[in-house]
Amino acid sequence: MPTLPRRALQRRMFLGGALAGLALSASRASAAPTLRADDPRFGDVVEPGTPLRTLYAGGRWCEGLCYAAHLGGLIVSDVRANRMVRIADDGAVGVFRDPSNNANGNTLDAEGRLITCEHRGRRVVRREPDGRLTVLADSYEGHPLNSPNDAALAPDGAIWFTDPVFGITMPDEGLMAPPEQPARRVYRIDPASGRVEGMTDAVGQPNGIAFSPDGTQLYVSDTSAALKNPEGARAILAFPVREGRRLAPARIFATLEAGVPDGLAVDADGRVYAACFDGVRVHAPDGTRLGRIATATDAANIALGGPDGRRLFIGAGAVVHAIDLKVRGPARG
Ligand code: MG
Repeated sequence: MPTLPRRALQRRMFLGGALAGLALSASRASAAPTLRADDPRFGDVVEPGTPLRTLYAGGRWCEGLCYAAHLGGLIVSDVRANRMVRIADDGAVGVFRDPSNNANGNTLDAEGRLITCEHRGRRVVRREPDGRLTVLADSYEGHPLNSPNDAALAPDGAIWFTDPVFGITMPDEGLMAPPEQPARRVYRIDPASGRVEGMTDAVGQPNGIAFSPDGTQLYVSDTSAALKNPEGARAILAFPVREGRRLAPARIFATLEAGVPDGLAVDADGRVYAACFDGVRVHAPDGTRLGRIATATDAANIALGGPDGRRLFIGAGAVVHAIDLKVRGPARG
């Protein structure tokens, strides 16, 4: 992700010395779980007192979380270290892909193949069962994409992805280059033809992306406020999806008073989880804020998964956390 707001930077500098110590406590429960309810219904999501565990503390900037049992566990893109790691259910950490083209967002397609957004490659790739990579998208209307950030699978098998500029404007997240697209869009890759279709340019810096369980709503986070632009948007937008392949105008689903929402996830009941600067915020399907799972470092990406589907994984700077919920991710069609 993007440039951090000053408040978050100050917090991170303050906590910097503590990060080395975290490595020693990997896999152990946090001493101070921080579940903060805004609504009694937060109790339906997570049991009070549930620990926030640290699975890994050796990254630089962990995003792109994707749980894939058939690939050996949780896949993590350490964007700034230019590699991907895998965290097995038993806690073992290994290299998954190195170098990774500053890979960021990951998701699984309808056949369970890993879809990866690459900042440096400015493309979306599919990992075949033998490990080879197939390029699904690297241009639109004859020009290179900006830097694909995050992706989601639609019920019809299409891969949708966001294309903000962070991978071509932040030196430690890709290669610097002028944008060649006149807009930062959300794109759809048609599952039958492979055609890349621009779906909307209404989001300033589209970033996290997720569908409601029935596929009728598309949530997109806008991280415009991250680009040294404190007046920029810091909202989650909800687009009605028509016939699976057209977006109606969006409404503001939720907005932050500070920081920016980045990675998104939706559970089986339609609650929306957003990785924000101060942890993971949980919203009811109607947008009501239910509560927050606080993190000490800036949360940027999340995924639901784990052996029973009830585990929330959180990428927060150098650290990957996990917390067990009472709800599970949506069933995969
Ligand atoms: Mg992102």
